[in-house]
Amino acid sequence: MKTNRHSKLPIRRISGLLSAAIALPFSSMTVHAQTDEEKPAAFRTALVYDDIFLEHDTGPGFPESPDRLRLLTKHLKAHPVSERLLWMEPSDGIDPMPWILEMHDEDYVAELKRTAEAGEKLVGGSADNPISKRTYEVAVKAVAGALTAVDAVMKGRVNNAFAAVRPPGHHAMPDRAKGFCFFGNAAIAARYAQKHHMLERVMIVDWDVHHGDGTQEMFLKDPTVFVFNTHQYPLYPGPSGSPDIIGEGAGKGFNLNVPLAAGSGDEAVIKAYRTQLTEAFRKFKPQFLIISAGFDAHEADPLGALGWSSDVYAELTEILRALCREQGHERIVSLLEGGYSERGITEGVRRHIEGLEAPAEKP
Ligand SMILES: [Zn+2]
Repeated sequence: MKTNRHSKLPIRRISGLLSAAIALPFSSMTVHAQTDEEKPAAFRTALVYDDIFLEHDTGPGFPESPDRLRLLTKHLKAHPVSERLLWMEPSDGIDPMPWILEMHDEDYVAELKRTAEAGEKLVGGSADNPISKRTYEVAVKAVAGALTAVDAVMKGRVNNAFAAVRPPGHHAMPDRAKGFCFFGNAAIAARYAQKHHMLERVMIVDWDVHHGDGTQEMFLKDPTVFVFNTHQYPLYPGPSGSPDIIGEGAGKGFNLNVPLAAGSGDEAVIKAYRTQLTEAFRKFKPQFLIISAGFDAHEADPLGALGWSSDVYAELTEILRALCREQGHERIVSLLEGGYSERGITEGVRRHIEGLEAPAEKP
């Protein structure tokens, strides 16, 4: 079958996250990593990426495709900000497995490994989670990328980091894959920052258009990890994004959901960040911030309808950096979640990275 850049790929008829999915006219391209030696001496921001992230093959017409990262890395490399980033690959010196098992059941991890390596097409029967032979290996490497970013920040190599990983993670449940996600990259990174780097309080801020139900589930009873979500509501995954869910037991008051109406645009999310997020942040005083950075709230996205501009990602980033600076640090690790439009995954991500990398305003 002959296709061109403007042709639409076949749309799969499956349920859940994909109900409104359309395929993207991505083209394939090669990415060349730069070595540290080619870079200036000091960096504010690291960019963690590995070509292995392209090897989780979800099949034709699936929105969460390797082309997302091909397009993103090509866009970044062609932009001046690329020269100001410390490009890193996931460190071979980190064994992610003990950290994955902090947040996921051993049986599920073993099932994902077995089904992927056996060449099965789905794990746990989830139509939103197609797998390929290397999916397990790639998902483990995505976690390694997140932990590498945490290390780079905690060791002071950079102020902050963005990890352009896939598969994404914020829908992954302790015992199952869900909504394109296999391992909870952000949740695992949060626990790693706590247990490996001896931090007490970590905050996860999730601006993906979909509610981060997996992350919420993992910390619902935990007062040491504050989870803040803005998301289009109602939308997939459903009632988990209700503002009534505020945590349970000791974790009560450490989970905050801010639902946003379709079409509410930049203004509504900026307001949520300047009011509810700011108040929660100042009260919780996180020592480390993780962003579940999805770009499917972008106005061009086929799965979301919040209608955000590309520039809002720089603005949200600056709000978060300023809040961290009030706490005396800039320890931010941002992890790619969703984002299925060409503009969202290129411009949107770049504006976010520019926000991370910009010189800090003088207090
Ligand atoms: Zn999403």
